[in-house]
Amino acid sequence: MSYHSWGRVCPPAAHGVRLVARDRPLPAVGQPWLARGNGRSYADSGLEPAGCMLDCRGLDRFIAFDAERGILRCEAGVLLDDVLQVIVPRGWFLPVTPGTRYVTVGGAIANDVHGKNHHRAGTFGRHLRAFELLRSDGSRLTCGPAENPGWFAATIGGLGLTGLVSWAELALRRIDSRGIDATCTRFETLDEFLAIADGAVARHEYTVAWLDASPRRRVRVRGHFTWGDHVADGAGLAARRRRAGPAVPFAPPWSLVTPLTTRVFNTLYFHRQRKPVSQRRVDYEPFFYPLDGVREWNRLYGRPGFAQYQCVVPRVAAADALPALLGRLGAAGAGSFLAVLKTFGDTASPGLLSFPRAGVTLAVDIPWRGEDTQRLFAALDAITLAAGGTVYAAKNGSASAACFRASTPALERFRGFVDPACSSAFWRAVEAAA
Ligand SMILES: Cc1cc2nc3c(=O)[nH]c(=O)nc-3n(C[C@H](O)[C@H](O)[C@H](O)COP(=O)(O)OP(=O)(O)OC[C@H]3O[C@@H](n4cnc5c(N)ncnc54)[C@H](O)[C@@H]3O)c2cc1C
Repeated sequence: MSYHSWGRVCPPAAHGVRLVARDRPLPAVGQPWLARGNGRSYADSGLEPAGCMLDCRGLDRFIAFDAERGILRCEAGVLLDDVLQVIVPRGWFLPVTPGTRYVTVGGAIANDVHGKNHHRAGTFGRHLRAFELLRSDGSRLTCGPAENPGWFAATIGGLGLTGLVSWAELALRRIDSRGIDATCTRFETLDEFLAIADGAVARHEYTVAWLDASPRRRVRVRGHFTWGDHVADGAGLAARRRRAGPAVPFAPPWSLVTPLTTRVFNTLYFHRQRKPVSQRRVDYEPFFYPLDGVREWNRLYGRPGFAQYQCVVPRVAAADALPALLGRLGAAGAGSFLAVLKTFGDTASPGLLSFPRAGVTLAVDIPWRGEDTQRLFAALDAITLAAGGTVYAAKNGSASAACFRASTPALERFRGFVDPACSSAFWRAVEAAA
């Protein structure tokens, strides 16, 4: 058994125990351990190669669903995809969803994930009513906003380090239809992006922008801005017939994502949007989860793997910091066909270590080139820190450990909640960072 990160760069964890029952005590594994969800974290915050992974995918039962009030209780290994199959036909939706539906409820809690509606809904953790935390001393703590609130805040966004979540209860969002009314428009400068974003967040539930991050000498900010809202006219909730998408069959020796393929893809994709504004009614699946259409797409980066750099900088610093970040990426020849810009609202995140804070977030996938990529991360971290921003542990991992440490003021308080048996490669790097 071996457990990889989604970017497939970090050393995998070779040992694991699959949990199957939420009411049994945690197994005595005799070494440091870390809970494992569905492995969609890009880097090593979800890995403990020097210990044992407690694999939660067997904790996959639904416990209770109040279809009148939209309250769901399930085990922590249930995938958001499985939740959607149950709740959407009954007129409910996830209050917050990341860009893939193949994450577990436990993983969504431990990274306090955000979605395209951060400006309205905040993070996933804000919609949790309760969860159970299992600790290595055998204790079971029920946690909620009013019950064990310290443990609640430490575990949300707590990177699996406070113990293992066995079940969780979530408040859902009402919907009338599977459909989303989506509008897409082009932007050609950073100012244009910010102006569109300001208008869109005031009026629409979901907003996100794709950025043309082709490797260039001169910084150019252009892309597509999309906003969307749930269709409100009862256009149907019946499940679509689902077909499994194609899969990338194996990881080739070299990355298929090169500066040339990136430039060609991005140019074609940018010009795909011909009209200044286009409107479509789409099913929620392609709207929220376009990447889930190709299974194992991470193999496109070949055996060297890839990394994602994601940071957030305060809005006042964005005009300087974003061109500086993109300029550094361009100078390193590190283009990306998957770059996302988004504004976060000012709703406080409930977790001590939660990543989202008010400002503009940039996320860029980059083919891994060993020490060159590590140097690039250090340069990007310096810009993020100088701008008063922070980085996302689930994406950047150890490559940004020092930046995470320097930009996370609640770290000292968080240490008091870490389970002595839990550890990860990322956490060791954070503790070792000066
Ligand atoms: C295509 C793609 C798009 C994405 N888009 C977004 C996005 O829009 N927003 C966003 O925020 N993230 C996004 N992510 C990141 C992803 O949502 C997070 O990394 C998520 O936490 C992965 O969940 P997982 O179930 O795969 O858990 P894993 O990656 O296996 O683990 C994640 C963390 O959760 C902990 N954990 C897992 N289960 C438990 C448990 N039962 N108890 C305690 N701790 C546990 C692990 O120890 C680890 O620290 C994206 C990832 C991909 C691949």
